[in-house]
Amino acid sequence: MPNRIVGLFFLLLPLSFFGQEAEKAANSVLSYARNFTSTLCSPEYEGRGYVNHGCRKAGALIVDEFKRNGLLPYLGNYDQAFNLNVNTFPNQCKVKFGLRKLKPGRDYLVHPSSAGYKGVLSLKSMSAAEIMNYRMGTAPSKTAIAFVAGKVLSGDSVKLVRSKLEKIAQTECAVVEYTREKLTWSVSKQRFKFPYITCFDTLQRRKDSKINVNIDNDFLSRYEVRNCFGWVPSVNPSDSIIVVSAHYDHLGRMGKKTYFPGANDNASGVAMLMSLSRAIQQQPLQNHSVLFVAFAGEEIGLEGSFALVESGILDLKKISMVLNLDILGSGEEGITVVNGSVFPQFYHRLVQLNESIPAVPVVKPRGRAANSDHYPFSEKGVPSLFVYTMGPNKNYHDIHDRYENLSFDRFESLHYLFVRFLNRF
Ligand SMILES: [Zn+2]
Repeated sequence: MPNRIVGLFFLLLPLSFFGQEAEKAANSVLSYARNFTSTLCSPEYEGRGYVNHGCRKAGALIVDEFKRNGLLPYLGNYDQAFNLNVNTFPNQCKVKFGLRKLKPGRDYLVHPSSAGYKGVLSLKSMSAAEIMNYRMGTAPSKTAIAFVAGKVLSGDSVKLVRSKLEKIAQTECAVVEYTREKLTWSVSKQRFKFPYITCFDTLQRRKDSKINVNIDNDFLSRYEVRNCFGWVPSVNPSDSIIVVSAHYDHLGRMGKKTYFPGANDNASGVAMLMSLSRAIQQQPLQNHSVLFVAFAGEEIGLEGSFALVESGILDLKKISMVLNLDILGSGEEGITVVNGSVFPQFYHRLVQLNESIPAVPVVKPRGRAANSDHYPFSEKGVPSLFVYTMGPNKNYHDIHDRYENLSFDRFESLHYLFVRFLNRF
């Protein structure tokens, strides 16, 4: 039905009917997304990392959900297995100065590449210059080099010192870094030989000459994870595929008491992926099949999307567009479109559609960036956009990125914007 006639049809309906129906539909998009996000962030899924197989459990949940929503497998499969190496902290994760216990995630982080350690380390304070000039092979045993970033050093200098400290932890001795920066965690596919601990800087902590560490560590080699697929064929026969994607993995656990829920990053994007997959399954696109992909291994270096692009499972020449979704839980300050300036025709279409709704106050273009799963596709020349929301929620890769801290402010209107965008192809 052409749009004009649809419009007329709606005009003829009593207003109360339209109001109720619109409200029902909106509620269901938002409540579905909220439910799915809160499930993915619950302790059961362990921050969707590798300790206690959190990522595997989340992958199984997503495949079940695709099936429940009536999506089909892609070439007979709902998933694609691949392997990665990952450094994990499964059990004890305790750090003490004297009798004072530090709170994991609030007072300190274990460097994602850190080794485990059990025992007391003597702290040997060094300035930035001493660290930069440090000659390997001179550390006494059971010593940790202690570094205070302080206020005098520029951000770039701190980065340089930090990379030297990482080299020291790789081969030489333990490292303790005191910082006033926000504690932001990550996940790593390598392991140093020695522990590396980052503490939030307080004067009291700096006074101590010893640190008591009990960190369990397990390096997993060739650990199996899965990308998950849901397929909606086009109404008319067509070779063209649109890929809609979001990564479902996050950082997992740092010890048995602390996990990183990854609500905004990227339970929210997976919830959008699922809500879009429901809508498109109910009303498939005329001339494009849609492959919904929930990627694993993103946080560790886009491993899932590289695994898919390099597998040959997908004929890249048939992909008309990739729409990748990551960090969809806010939107008060608009959205950013990575690759917006690389594929301007796609970006402008999104801007125009937004103006007619409008779903968000700003649609900001950005250039090429290797910051999410669109990247392996766009590097192969496949038109790919990556959309993330902007807003006051700055909880990123920390223990505060929790479901309760998401506003979902523009979620529902973004859902409709994306549905329209997909239908305009
Ligand atoms: Zn992410």
